[in-house]
Amino acid sequence: MVLNTIRDADLKNKRVLIRVDFNVPVKDGKVTDATRILAALPTINYILEQPGASLVVMSHFGRPKGKKNPDFSMVPVGKKFEELLGRPVKVASDVIGDEVEKEVKALKPGEVLLLENCRFYPQEEANDPEFAKTLASYGDVYVNDAFGTAHRAHASTEGVAHYLPSYAGFLIEKEVKFMAPLLENPEKPFVAIIGGSKVSSKISVLESLVKTCDTIVIGGGMAYTFLKVQGHSIGKSLVEDDYLETAKSFLSAAAAKNVKVILPVDHVCAEQFAEDAAPIEVDSIDIPENLMGMDIGPKTTAMIVDALKDAKSVVWNGPMGVFEFAAFAKGTEAVAKALAASNATTVVGGGDSVAAVNKFGLADKISHVSTGGGASLEFLEGKELPGVKALEK
Ligand code: ADP
Ligand code: MG
Repeated sequence: MVLNTIRDADLKNKRVLIRVDFNVPVKDGKVTDATRILAALPTINYILEQPGASLVVMSHFGRPKGKKNPDFSMVPVGKKFEELLGRPVKVASDVIGDEVEKEVKALKPGEVLLLENCRFYPQEEANDPEFAKTLASYGDVYVNDAFGTAHRAHASTEGVAHYLPSYAGFLIEKEVKFMAPLLENPEKPFVAIIGGSKVSSKISVLESLVKTCDTIVIGGGMAYTFLKVQGHSIGKSLVEDDYLETAKSFLSAAAAKNVKVILPVDHVCAEQFAEDAAPIEVDSIDIPENLMGMDIGPKTTAMIVDALKDAKSVVWNGPMGVFEFAAFAKGTEAVAKALAASNATTVVGGGDSVAAVNKFGLADKISHVSTGGGASLEFLEGKELPGVKALEK
């Protein structure tokens, strides 16, 4: 997958329409976490460094459900954006309409206009062509740097690309640079570590990655469904009985492809699902009837660390245990540390796995920490992301 990127674009004297993900947490009119704004700055600064370029910025913010609602106004976001950018940012009066058109036309080189919340209009999520055309009329070129919404075909993420020359910003470029090879031609050995709570939400990722990986680790809550299929007792652990057949066929498919599957061989269990539950180590694959698996045990961790030893690429999606509870976070922390220490190209995707990596302060030791929860999951499932597809060469 090769994208048109802003490096390929001639942005001189152009009015650039950019879609970013400024869907940041706001409390009492103040942005409480500006990570997403900061993440977009390299692309935005690059554009503004091009002589004569000006910028129309669009994003969604919260869920105003297609209606204008001052609670979801971009004004507080614009304030923070202005502060971090270090130059004036005007927040537009609306998303479409005569007034906005005037504000866009009045833009001078180097100036920045942030449109109001594009989800103030139902046409945004409906990917209405007329609405997309209007947005497109605000720019000479279109740049998308909102990976987190790239799995949605909305007017500002996909529709608009039909009407303008379209380029990926640095964020989307990096996401694709690290994730596409995992599905196409990963450096081998390639180890995939998949966890999280549910088989149902991860089976597509497993089925996609099994095509290119050499070893696949299955941990977290979903592992017990696989262990049950293999005839093990799993006690009171999380299980999806509807997915036993699916799990079974996955295991045979992996075996047919000579992909090594690592399932937990020991566990940290609890009597009930609670933060203050006492951790009980179970040194066998089988779990006693009165216990539930809450984390992988030390032998399993050692197996994963060993599998990572000569890996050249690693992808991790889904925690190995209930890492939100300190007593059951060890397996997840050990995996995060193993990735951080690895010489392989390491990619972490998924909301909770990324949260875990951040919690353990290891994000800067991972080759790529994906910025899109749902989008990175769909990417790893091998699905086409409409917002990315629109930027392909
Ligand atoms: P990601 O967001 O990284 O894709 P998921 O959303 O699939 O990950 O799964 C994360 C959730 O899985 C966490 O909230 C974690 O507590 C839960 N989980 C992991 N292991 C277990 C387990 N053994 N039992 C119950 N829940 C688990
Ligand atoms: Mg999650």
